[in-house]
Amino acid sequence: MENLLKTLVYDGQVSLTVADTTELVKEAVKLHGLKKGSATVLGKVLSAAAFTSAALKEERGEVSFTIKGNGTGGSVNVSGNQALHIRGYLENPEIDELDEAEILGEYGSLTVIRDDGYSRPFVGSCAYPFAVSVDALFEEYYRVSEQLPTFLATKVELDEDGDVLFAGLAALQPLPFTDEATLNGLPKGKELERIVEAVKNKGIKGAAKELFSAKDDGITLRRASYTCHCSRLYLTQVLAAVGEEQMRQIIREDGELRVHCHYCNTDYVFLDEDADKIFARKK
Ligand SMILES: [Zn+2]
Repeated sequence: MENLLKTLVYDGQVSLTVADTTELVKEAVKLHGLKKGSATVLGKVLSAAAFTSAALKEERGEVSFTIKGNGTGGSVNVSGNQALHIRGYLENPEIDELDEAEILGEYGSLTVIRDDGYSRPFVGSCAYPFAVSVDALFEEYYRVSEQLPTFLATKVELDEDGDVLFAGLAALQPLPFTDEATLNGLPKGKELERIVEAVKNKGIKGAAKELFSAKDDGITLRRASYTCHCSRLYLTQVLAAVGEEQMRQIIREDGELRVHCHYCNTDYVFLDEDADKIFARKK
């Protein structure tokens, strides 16, 4: 089902994105066995990543986010593409306590690599803002690195057992010609959080229509999902490039060659018979 909506609001001066990322975050929690604190932080970054990914223009476009800080969560790695396939992981999935600032840490940075599919990728980064949260970090990134004022709120709601009840996002991005009065009047912080709350209660369309008088014909609906692109076939190609000798040596020493995908927590195991198949053509 479509879960991300984009439209222009404020007389076409501001781009609005609202998303219900509940299913996406649920999938991440299931794959990684995330406890509550870890689920909240990763879920928020995945939701923000869906917003950034929805701005990719080219079909081959991809964007990746790395948060490195001195918090209990360790590093956070998330990537997304133009098809809104989002995936990611957090180094420490075991944090139960829900303290965003503690999980992210006091010092750190967010690095974004955006590959629009042509020429060189754009690499931008920013240091943690003073009061760090996932939302503040993404706002800081847009302000410092892309010079695009962006107001963003993400939300992950869990029940006692850590099951995801709701996850969502609201973001406003003024276009370059936005007038001063509109800019100053945009909902920020708590007001933006109320828009995410409206997404939960009224759905993405309901929230956009009720709060911004969005019209059906100006709305773009898309689907963001937790999808990993790893595959055994792809790894087979990688191993073919690594070479037979090295592959056989690892299998001889360890009994198998194991490749782990952090994004979907999947192990791929290769044995001698797989090496036989991969390198058969050459004999
Ligand atoms: Zn994977």
